[in-house]
Amino acid sequence: MSFDTLGLAPALLRALAEQGYTAPTSIQSAAIPVALSGRDLLAGAQTGTGKTAAFALPLLQRLFVGNTSSAPANNKRKPRALILTPTRELAAQVHDSLRGYAKHVRMASTTIFGGMSMGPQIDALRRGVDVLVATPGRLIDHMERRTVDLSGIEILVLDEADRMLDMGFLPSIKRILGTLPKQRQTLLFSATFADEIKKIAAQFMRDPAEVQVAARNSVVATITHRVHPVESARKRELLLHLLSQDSRRQTLVFSRTKHGANKLADFLEKYGLKTAAIHGNKSQGARTKALKEFKNGKVTVLVATDIAARGIDIDQLPIVVNYDLPMVAEDYVHRIGRTGRAGAEGLAVSLVAHEEVRLLRDIRRLLKQDIAIENVAGFEPSRPLNLESPGPAPGRPSRPGKPRNPNHSRRPHANAAKKPHAAGNKPRPWRNNRDQRKA
Ligand code: AMP
Repeated sequence: MSFDTLGLAPALLRALAEQGYTAPTSIQSAAIPVALSGRDLLAGAQTGTGKTAAFALPLLQRLFVGNTSSAPANNKRKPRALILTPTRELAAQVHDSLRGYAKHVRMASTTIFGGMSMGPQIDALRRGVDVLVATPGRLIDHMERRTVDLSGIEILVLDEADRMLDMGFLPSIKRILGTLPKQRQTLLFSATFADEIKKIAAQFMRDPAEVQVAARNSVVATITHRVHPVESARKRELLLHLLSQDSRRQTLVFSRTKHGANKLADFLEKYGLKTAAIHGNKSQGARTKALKEFKNGKVTVLVATDIAARGIDIDQLPIVVNYDLPMVAEDYVHRIGRTGRAGAEGLAVSLVAHEEVRLLRDIRRLLKQDIAIENVAGFEPSRPLNLESPGPAPGRPSRPGKPRNPNHSRRPHANAAKKPHAAGNKPRPWRNNRDQRKA
């Protein structure tokens, strides 16, 4: 299958060739013809499948290729397309991709998200844009100030709709949808189709076509999954040990909590690893800088929480480490969706303590495949992980004073490793990196 057969215009084909894309991904083959026909679309696709191009290309073609009549280059121009994403990072990334695909098309676009001052966004809106890529909260701020006019929207994209709902954006989404023109095309992309998503589809979409590229929650086949059993108090030592084996490889490390992410980043940095943390408590400037430095290789280890990392697109990221297993098995799929993209080999490494056995079992059930369990010499836990026993209840992010079940032992994994050297096997500081940092 090639892009030519999907009915895309030469201006878009040229941009795709320049991006180095030779063939469409499955979601692109399935979604593009439907979306080009003007039909509403419910698409089941997770991060890493090429879903951005699957909605961006038809959007560009339908609104901006060979039809400039309704996009006058004056300041009365209203946005014709709205792309809603759950996070600022994803909005920025979708916008970058969109601009790449639109390289040979006349189209003005901007991003609207929180953490940045309103002024430049208001200026951009006043100058006139064709496509808005926005997060729901900040878009509503603009709606309330009447600095955005959504009455000209012809195409709406809900990207990572399941995550928007997880993040509590349902009321905002309903409010935004309520103000949009009824005559429009709606494209909804989601990794999962929970009942709430179906309800939104039923309420706000017209007879949508459905495309699903992979079985629900299946993961990219090129990813190798590996579990290293470890006592939770020794996790950070083990992580340091693993990272120091190949210090040049970019690694994305997931921590369950913001506090845990900070502490881990500080610890790794202390041992000379160029590390940054991104999570919801960081300013937008700090998040953008960390991401940029990770992408350009200045930072080799990025420690992130699930929400901050949602949808981050880093080309050919070889390794994702789950420092803590996610509380929800589906999040494992989202996390590792950042590796093994577009045919590249990926490795998903999870550091698993006894307390997390139940979570690991959920993940294994969801993936419908076994995950290799490999001890790392010197870090073997006192007893092997037992995947068959019921196991202790997993530790929820700790809420002091509110134990869920006093019979279950719980430890806050992310913060547990207070004494990295206590259990022997002292991690070796990376002298070279350390020296560089001082310089
Ligand atoms: P997405 O799922 O949209 O975040 O895309 C995942 C990654 O795949 C991004 O780095 C895209 O640039 C890349 N990509 C998307 N479509 C293709 C394609 N047809 N061929 C090669 N890479 C692609």
